[in-house]
Amino acid sequence: NVRVRFCPSPTGNPHVGLVRTALFNWAYARHHGGTLVFRIEDTDAARDSEESYEQLLDSMRWLGFDWDEGPEVGGPHAPYRQSQRMDIYRDIAEKLLAGGYAYPCYCTTEELDQRREAARAAGKPSGYDGHCRDLSAEQKQAYEAEGRSHIVRFRMPDEATTFTDLVRGDITVQAENVTDYGIVRANGAPLYTLVNPVDDALMEITHVLRGEDLLSSTPRQIALYKALIELGVAKEIPAFGHLPYVMGEGNKKLSKRDPQASLNVYRERGFLPEGLLNYLSLLGWSLSADQDIFTADEMIAAFDVADVNPNPARFDLKKCEAINADHIRLLDVKDFAERCAPWLKAPFAPWAPESFDQDKWDAIAPHAQTRIKVLSEITDNVDFLFLPEPVFDEASWTKAMKEGSDALLRTAREKLAAADWSSAESLKEAVLAAGEAHGLKLGKAQAPVRVAVTGRTVGLPLFESLEILGKDVTLARVDAALA
Ligand code: GLU
Repeated sequence: NVRVRFCPSPTGNPHVGLVRTALFNWAYARHHGGTLVFRIEDTDAARDSEESYEQLLDSMRWLGFDWDEGPEVGGPHAPYRQSQRMDIYRDIAEKLLAGGYAYPCYCTTEELDQRREAARAAGKPSGYDGHCRDLSAEQKQAYEAEGRSHIVRFRMPDEATTFTDLVRGDITVQAENVTDYGIVRANGAPLYTLVNPVDDALMEITHVLRGEDLLSSTPRQIALYKALIELGVAKEIPAFGHLPYVMGEGNKKLSKRDPQASLNVYRERGFLPEGLLNYLSLLGWSLSADQDIFTADEMIAAFDVADVNPNPARFDLKKCEAINADHIRLLDVKDFAERCAPWLKAPFAPWAPESFDQDKWDAIAPHAQTRIKVLSEITDNVDFLFLPEPVFDEASWTKAMKEGSDALLRTAREKLAAADWSSAESLKEAVLAAGEAHGLKLGKAQAPVRVAVTGRTVGLPLFESLEILGKDVTLARVDAALA
C-alpha cells in the first residue's frame, strides 16, 4: 500500500517548485491507488501564518488536487497540522533521550562557532564535534548549575549511510559528513529534523518524494528512523526519491523570491490549472518523446518516479505559455467562455458593466479561444466590442496609418458599406477589393482598418470581429479615423 505525503510549510505564496512536488506525489499516489497525505509543517511560529495556510489550501484546490488525509478531510492520523501535534513530539524527544539516541547539548553558539572555526583552520571537518555526546551526570549537573540551557541533539551512528534513491540510485554518505544534529531547541520547540521523520513514521509514509534540496537531510532522517523502529514508533524506513532542482533565469536555482516562481502570478495571468500542471510535470518527467500535451489522467496512468530525470530542469516560461495555449484550445467553447468570466469584469475590464453584450461575447469567444495563450489576454482582445471607442495607442496608430492609408480607408469604407454584413467572407472581399484598388495585398490593406476599428495592430480574426461589432459601429469608427 503506497502512502505518500505532501508537507509544505505555510510561509508565503506557494511556488512552482512546491507545486511540482505536490503533483509528483499526487500522480504517484493515484497511479498506485495509494494514499496522499497532506500535512502542514507549521512548527515555525515566526515564519508560518494562518493566511499562508488558507492560501495553500486554496491553491491546492484550484490546481485540482485531492488528498485522502489532511486538512478539511481528516483521517486516522489527525491532526495533520504539526502545530497541533506538539505533545507527540515532546513525548518522542523524551523517549529518544531516555534510550540514549539523543542527548542534551549545553554548548553555546559562541563555543560552537569558535570550535568550528578552529576545526576549519586545522583543515578538519567542521560539523558538530561531539563535545556533549557522553557527558557524565556530574558534568550535566555542573552545566545546569551554571544556568546553561540545552538543546536536544541526535546521536548519529559512526557508520556510513547507504540508501537507494528512487531517482538517483545508490547513495552513500560517510559518517564524518553527517554529525550529530539538533532536534529540539533550547526553548523546547521541536525542529523540522525531528517532526518531519516522526510524522512520516506515525503516518506510515512509504515513499518520500521531495526536492533535491532535502537530499542532505536524508541520512539523518534514516538514522532517526532506525531509532524510532527500535523504540517501536516506526515500522519501516520509507523509500526516498529526490526530484531535480528547477532552474530559472541565468541557470540559477529558481528561488522562492523569484517573481516567476509564485503560483499566484500564473493564476492571475489566467493559466489553466491543467496547462500549468502539464508544464510542471515536464520539469523532470515526460510522458513520451513525441507528446508534450496531456491531461492529468494521462499523466497518472503513466507516472513512475523511476522515470524522473535527476538532472536540473529549466523553467521555460515561453514553453509554459505554449502548453497552456494548447490546453485553452482543448476546452469546450462554453467552458472556455465561462473561465474567461473574471477578465470580463472589473477590475480587469475597462468597460462599464452595462456595456457588456452577451451575444457579442458568445459570438467572439470561439475566435478568441484559438488565439490567446493565457486567459487574461482576453480583455484587450475584446475590449473593442464593449467600449464606446477603441483604445488607440500611439505606436499602433503610427504604424498602421502610413501615407496613403486615408485613401485606402476611404475605399474600404465604400466597399464595406456595400458588403453583405451577414458574412465575414463578404467583408473580407470588400477589404481585398479596396486593397487591389490601391495596389496593396490583403495584409497591408487590413492593417489600417483593424487599427481604426479595434485600436490595435494585432488581434482576433478581423472580418469576424467586424461582423460581430456590426455595420454601423464599424463604419462610424472608420469615419472617425478619417476625420
Ligand atoms: N516542510 C518541508 C518543506 O517544505 C518538507 C520537506 C520534506 O518534504 O521533507 O521544505
